[in-house]
Amino acid sequence: MKITFGGAAETVTGSCHLVEVDGLRVVLDCGFFQGGRKREDLNREPFPFDPKSVDAVLLSHAHLDHCGRLPLLVDRGFSGPIYCTPPTADISKLILADSASLQMSEAAYKARKAERLGREPEPPLYDMDDVMRTVRLFQPVSGYNAPVQLNDKVTAVFHDAGHILGSAAIELRTSNGTLLFSGDLGNRDQPIVEDPCTPPKADVLLIESTYGDRAHKSMEDTLAELREAIHTVIPNGGNLMIPSFALERTQEVLYEIFKLWEAKDLPRCRIFLDSPLAISTTKVFARYRDYYDAEARAVFDGEPNPFSFTPLRFTQSTEESKAINRAGRGNIIIAGSGMCTGGRIIHHLRHNLWHDKSGILFVGYQAVGTRGRHIVDGAESIKIWGEEIAVKAQMWTTNGFSSHADQPILLDWIRRADPEHLVLIHGEDEILDTFASKIKADLSKESHVAKLGETIVV
Ligand SMILES: [Zn+2]
Repeated sequence: MKITFGGAAETVTGSCHLVEVDGLRVVLDCGFFQGGRKREDLNREPFPFDPKSVDAVLLSHAHLDHCGRLPLLVDRGFSGPIYCTPPTADISKLILADSASLQMSEAAYKARKAERLGREPEPPLYDMDDVMRTVRLFQPVSGYNAPVQLNDKVTAVFHDAGHILGSAAIELRTSNGTLLFSGDLGNRDQPIVEDPCTPPKADVLLIESTYGDRAHKSMEDTLAELREAIHTVIPNGGNLMIPSFALERTQEVLYEIFKLWEAKDLPRCRIFLDSPLAISTTKVFARYRDYYDAEARAVFDGEPNPFSFTPLRFTQSTEESKAINRAGRGNIIIAGSGMCTGGRIIHHLRHNLWHDKSGILFVGYQAVGTRGRHIVDGAESIKIWGEEIAVKAQMWTTNGFSSHADQPILLDWIRRADPEHLVLIHGEDEILDTFASKIKADLSKESHVAKLGETIVV
């Protein structure tokens, strides 16, 4: 069995691995490199294999860093099936269309600049046509644990990774042994999705290492903080802004706010879900209750439920979004982007951040250099559309909403899969070193850290 790493090697983005076995060439994920110009430029580089020669893609889940380069693979000659779970197929379509539209508007903006400089404009990486050609190749599997025959010797099985709706760890059963690709593994006790499954025994394990160096805080503190933010800001006549990621985090936040409402512990307010992408992903979530854990299925059984209860409004159009800030205060506003780098949260920040009765609640990681991180780090003001806006709003940062496994979960997974060959992928340099040492100390296992463009034979 030969494995070539085309991304998520010594970094967390760009997940893409070619497996050659039993006369078959299969690509596991084909994700976007993200996080700064230098990394994003890697998306323009050729794949370390010929896309025309690939027989099939197996897609673990719908996050952009796992599906975002699929249109490029197709543009460069891939024409086989893309297997994934049904929710992953539906959500990936939305994520890829959103990505294409962002790239097209960015390319148009840069083209105007290039024109003024007398330079050739750079085309977008891909456009909506490329996305349409890609989504036609999706072949949803019938569900978790249902074997898919790839050729006479190789079978793929999708297992529940418990990371986001429809996410999978992928098992490849071959005549040369079993390979298990973790995809992204989820946290325990996440709202809505199941816990990560118990892995099958594997000869080769490719495991993600995002949080291979730490243990997460408990969800209890996070929920207490969410409640405190709401109970502080709303009765005081302020607006509570929640910058949120459209996929999974938004639905989890709605789920927890609904539980407060149901327990009559939510002050009188309106809740605006103010993100077209989050509204679309929420509608996909609503269609796939079979993919929830038992507790969430019971909560969603009937109406009202977390996606349909009295104070909740979906604001689809720009006009509706603008009207929120004309409608007085005492609202909870959930809007993208999660790190305040763009999207509708920007105009809400402009309207509310300078107000000491307002509040901002961060429910996700804020990367260095983003507006969100500046606010978390205590900036006195931030720049929005060329204007300095004072930061007077109260702030809360929760750490418990994590959809990634921490070190104890990852170690437990490795122990249970008990692989002969262990490969660490999807992690930053320093974390990979810490994780590899921990694996050696606790499990007496050697591991290999995958390098970009490298091929290993196992
Ligand atoms: Zn993910």
